[in-house]
Amino acid sequence: ERSWVFVPCDRLNDRIGPLATDSDAGIILVESHAKGKSRPYHHKKVLLVLSNMRHFALEQIERGRHVLYLNGPESYGEQLFAAQQRFRLGSILSTRAAERELRKDLERGCASGLRLEDRPDTAWLSTSEDWQEVFGKGASRGRQFLMERFYRYMRRSTGILMEDGNYAGGKLSYDEQNREPYRGQITPPPRPTFAQDAITIELLEMMQRVNPIAFGSADGFDLPVTEADAKSAWSFALDRLLPFFGPWEDAMSTQEPMLFHSALSALMNISRLLPREIIADVETAYHQGKIPLASAEGFIRQILGWREFMRHIHDTTDGFRTLPQSPDPPSNREAHAYSATIVQTIDPATPDRPATPSALDAHLPLPPAYWGDRSGMRCLDTVVAQVRDQGWSHHITRLMVLSNLAVLCGFSPRELTDWFWVAYIDAYDWVVESNVLGMATFADGGLTATKPYVSGAAYINRMSDYCGKCPLDPKKALGPGSCPFTALYWTFLERHADLLQSNQRLRMPYIALGKKSAADRKALRERAEAAVAQLGRGEIVT
Ligand code: FAD
Ligand code: SF4
Repeated sequence: ERSWVFVPCDRLNDRIGPLATDSDAGIILVESHAKGKSRPYHHKKVLLVLSNMRHFALEQIERGRHVLYLNGPESYGEQLFAAQQRFRLGSILSTRAAERELRKDLERGCASGLRLEDRPDTAWLSTSEDWQEVFGKGASRGRQFLMERFYRYMRRSTGILMEDGNYAGGKLSYDEQNREPYRGQITPPPRPTFAQDAITIELLEMMQRVNPIAFGSADGFDLPVTEADAKSAWSFALDRLLPFFGPWEDAMSTQEPMLFHSALSALMNISRLLPREIIADVETAYHQGKIPLASAEGFIRQILGWREFMRHIHDTTDGFRTLPQSPDPPSNREAHAYSATIVQTIDPATPDRPATPSALDAHLPLPPAYWGDRSGMRCLDTVVAQVRDQGWSHHITRLMVLSNLAVLCGFSPRELTDWFWVAYIDAYDWVVESNVLGMATFADGGLTATKPYVSGAAYINRMSDYCGKCPLDPKKALGPGSCPFTALYWTFLERHADLLQSNQRLRMPYIALGKKSAADRKALRERAEAAVAQLGRGEIVT
């Protein structure tokens, strides 16, 4: 008898899970309008996921597989259960879902009678046993998980970028070579685009009918939707972008917003591209002398290190639920029409509502500038416009512009997380919650990052070209027209001195703060408060 495999929308590949070993297994794919409506997802993300799903179904039919394609208003679990009864299917096989939200949906289905059997998810490069080998069990506040420790273990246990038992080139990481600002040294090549076909166009119409409210339109959608598209996007990145990836990894540019980033996280997160294959290609290219070691190692570290690390952080904290939760979850969702539509997912009455840790006690609502209203801060407005347009921006803009500002101002980490979840085409709970609640906002109290990633205007000015044409002055900390980042930074340190001043990595900034007079500190506080108030009211920061 044929076995049937439920393939979640983020596991669109027949080289992983039960499909890899059973060429006769049938495939069940499910489109759930309930999921689509749960947040005002960027339309480019919805299109990317659904069009890839439908193309995957057709590709598999061409390979001779039987495919059952479900599409309905109900949840995944409900639709699977109905199909199991209707077609008299035995237990349905499935890999453990990567998204916690999907796991809970399926668990509810199973509680109502759905029969599912878990199989190992071979899309990951590590297992929970690997994680426990490095860190043991448990995750409570006060613990610290160092990515470097995990990465060291992963390099040694997989043998990736290892030579005669040592790290290639003799060093674990070449991060210090990868921090150059971009001044137009090499122009990134134009990226391949993928024309919309009849399937994508049909989906576009459906999406606009079923799910009209979204942050970010599908205009100009040209992302990969087939296996062949994904392959050619990857070949392009490997040949033309990765050789230059390292040095400008942290740079931010209005002229070249994507620089040499592969921008393939969204395809990796739906398994169109498999991390192990990507890494093998990069390693081969390094050995062939096509990619310098610093770039190859930098890129591999993101996938073998950070990506796997983040997913385990999420798992081990049950989506940050094992940590102390903020007693006062954010409730002010009226800041913008978009944020008001997310209310259902955060409503305290919702069973299993998302985690709300906030170690820095940050509760202000996310201001309208994040939803596209102009703030006058060129860095923020440029990145938000890019995200609204593309559903993507690179790592440093996420960390040092969008999150840095939110942390300094005290915007709610949960609201920021939900914003990222809605706005980015590569966002899924296991990766977006770990990156925002963990790495970027310190909401987990230092479980993921050894200190909050915060900076004043000097960092943004050095690493970007935003400040040159900004009406605010990055070199001025006080008075009208000064860049608020600097005052916000000092005020943040002052506000959280109890928690942070004993942190060795913040020793120098606290020494510098200690040298400021009471009058200076007061002036900085007033400057910072004025900027937060203007942002909150949706006004231009002056
Ligand atoms: P590259 O810079 O080329 O890196 C290669 C790959 O490494 C990426 O495709 C990605 O798969 C992986 N990677 C790198 N860093 C991370 C990381 N910190 N966590 C997980 N994977 C990583 N990544 C997501 O995939 N989804 C998210 O929702 C997401 N939200 C983020 C939110 C914040 C606040 C921050 C600071 C980072 C977030 N990241 C997220 C991580 C990272 O920014 C993106 O993976 C990366 O920018 C994607 O672009 P790229 O494919 O060009 O990546
Ligand atoms: Fe951003 Fe300040 Fe630079 Fe303007 S001056 S772009 S607000 S860092």
